[in-house]
Amino acid sequence: MTDTYLRLVNSGVTKKLAKQLGLPRPAVLRRYEPGQPLVTGPVLVLGRGDNLPPAPDAPAPSPDADAVAHVLSGWGLDVRRHPSQLEDGGRWAGVVVVLTEAEEPADLSGPMLALGSTLRRIAPSGRIVTVSRAATPDDGPALSAVRVGIDGVLRSVAKELRAGATGNGIVLSGDATLDGPSVAGLLRFFLSSKSAFVDGQLVTVSSDAGVLPGAGSGWEKPLDGKVAVVTGAARGIGAAIAKVLARDGATVVCVDVPAAGDALAKVANQVRGTALQLDITAPDAGDRLLAHALERHGHLDVVVHNAGITRDKLLANMTPDRWDSVVAVNIAAQLRMNEQLLASGKLAEGARIVSLASTSGIAGNRGQTNYAASKAGVIGMVRATGPLLAPSGGTVNAVAPGFIETEMTAKIPALTRQVARRLDSLQQGGLPVDVAETIAFLASPVAGGVNGQVVRVCGQNLVGQ
Ligand code: NAD
Repeated sequence: MTDTYLRLVNSGVTKKLAKQLGLPRPAVLRRYEPGQPLVTGPVLVLGRGDNLPPAPDAPAPSPDADAVAHVLSGWGLDVRRHPSQLEDGGRWAGVVVVLTEAEEPADLSGPMLALGSTLRRIAPSGRIVTVSRAATPDDGPALSAVRVGIDGVLRSVAKELRAGATGNGIVLSGDATLDGPSVAGLLRFFLSSKSAFVDGQLVTVSSDAGVLPGAGSGWEKPLDGKVAVVTGAARGIGAAIAKVLARDGATVVCVDVPAAGDALAKVANQVRGTALQLDITAPDAGDRLLAHALERHGHLDVVVHNAGITRDKLLANMTPDRWDSVVAVNIAAQLRMNEQLLASGKLAEGARIVSLASTSGIAGNRGQTNYAASKAGVIGMVRATGPLLAPSGGTVNAVAPGFIETEMTAKIPALTRQVARRLDSLQQGGLPVDVAETIAFLASPVAGGVNGQVVRVCGQNLVGQ
């Protein structure tokens, strides 16, 4: 399950050789460890009117960029407001480009060319983050052009970054304001190493719902006091989710089929949670996991629908059992469990449901009609379920992993696997922990303004662009 190529091009003689031969050299990504600083150097904030070359100390006429700079300074970051404010030999840990005030396409040139002037000096695993507003049906043509244009800019600049740097965007829609908790939460998530394998993505914040963590270690333990259920937790991505939610302070109920009982018990012990042997296709699965959480832990705040299976076959050769089992586990069970959880009225206020989709559900994949039906179905389900939880401050979102190094992908033939790994902007597969970090963000109280969304954890994979 390890990417030997990535190891070789980052060590000793083989590193030199790869450089000489001009081979792709995927970087070792900076990943989160508790206590780690949010970023490793200065962060530049650019906004409207930040044209080059102005006087270095001239105040930028962008109240929105000032507001974002203020948030970042409040976290103790070294925030700068002009590209020239970098000492010789220094590197930007991040550049945040605030484009909420753009009114027409011409407004992009100043801040984007200023961003361009920084790109050769972005630190390894550095971060570019855009902040913009979603186009609405009431926008005039020029406003709509610039708002949608920003999506294109962000996705393109992400493809130009090197050395593990990523580019992602925060898009405000509806009544969401720059001061909303989820804008702060996303800024922090995208700047941090928790988003190591999220690249080229735009996440919409649709309201100011959500709660900022308290002072002190709040950002380190965002799930303190929460009870979370994770299905399919015995191995792979599910086990990683259980561990990351527990690290963030949650008590975790680990669910998997009885056949995986031993592995499940091990994970549950590791995270000091409880194990529940349950096939999620059981007609009363939702009621049973709710009963377990309430009896053992008193409440239920977070449900992660991770359990999933593949039974690949070309549609021409598809059998009823292959089709039906995939749909039963990957989508029908989630729909039924959600129905039971919502009907019970016993989910905690501000509950979070996060489902596993897949890039196969977005782009389609040969031999995976059944799987894609189920995973695209998850996307449809979260869109329609989000509004049902919103009145109680709850959210329902999906995470769509691309190529992740697990037992599932280890079964892919070696050559195909090598190619698949290089198909994204970071030129490597992700790790289960990368998916888990994004789920932990969506499960946290600060993410209340992100609802009905799909966040891809795919290193900006070509598939589904
Ligand atoms: P995995 O096969 O390693 O683990 C899945 C777990 O789900 C297993 O422990 C299994 O026992 C459990 N499970 C299966 N059916 C169940 C049922 N009926 N009831 C309870 N538990 C059940 O898979 P993974 O690679 O860790 O994938 C986890 C999720 O991520 C899946 O939904 C998968 O579709 C999705 N995903 C994975 C990738 C990837 O690259 N690995 C990519 C996209 C999406």
